Amino acid sequence: MGKEEKKILFVTVGTSALTARLLGSGISQDSARLRQRCTAYVEDPDGQQRDEAELFTEVLEVHRAYWTRKAGGGQLEAEGTSAEMTSTSLLMRTDPEGERKPSERKLLGGFKKGRDHLALLASDTPEGQFCAKLNARLICEFLVGCKCNDNCETCEVVVWTGLEARDKEFQGIANKLREIVTDEKYSERTRFFNITGGYKAAIPAVTYLCWDLRPTVPIFNQHVSQSSVIRLQFVPGPAPGESHMKEEIIYAPET
Ligand SMILES: [Zn+2]
Repeated sequence: MGKEEKKILFVTVGTSALTARLLGSGISQDSARLRQRCTAYVEDPDGQQRDEAELFTEVLEVHRAYWTRKAGGGQLEAEGTSAEMTSTSLLMRTDPEGERKPSERKLLGGFKKGRDHLALLASDTPEGQFCAKLNARLICEFLVGCKCNDNCETCEVVVWTGLEARDKEFQGIANKLREIVTDEKYSERTRFFNITGGYKAAIPAVTYLCWDLRPTVPIFNQHVSQSSVIRLQFVPGPAPGESHMKEEIIYAPET
């Protein structure tokens, strides 16, 4: 048997854990008020610092209730939770019957606790860190199945500096990303990107890096239909030395 492949999934993280259009809808008794508080926090995190811990607990509980219902077979609107969770759960989906379907292989091809790894890439801002920490907690509890409480071996939050546009420091993001992704500790791993969540301005840097590392790093983006994923990968072209971007739409396996 060949050496077992170890994976690392990089997930770009934005603020959808706080700004989801239907956050708390049908779950929290006063979801409109909760969404107002979340908006106020995203707009002025420093001004809301006093209530940050309490807000974190409240928002986490709403997302947890969402994923608990979902696990129980509930049909829920994707906009009730974060883009990072919805898309990562789809990518990690495995066929419960055991025999892998082709669609699953084109996603992550399974994800194993203790073997595979996730890195959430977040901006160095209070709201970026808030959402990354929250998504990490949800991924651990509902997708990985670990009880780590912040010190996790499987899922880490990595600060991607340079994305703080409000401080006029929106620069150097491509180099910083390369530094993170090509770190020695990931050298044995097969890399994947999930760019469904996160800042749009991060996408060119991810695309450029994946072009440079071609043909090994696929980029996933969940389709607006929510049930499929667009997989982009730079692959060798017909002529020697040529490359082109291969685009595939993958329909997620049923769970
Ligand atoms: Zn964990």
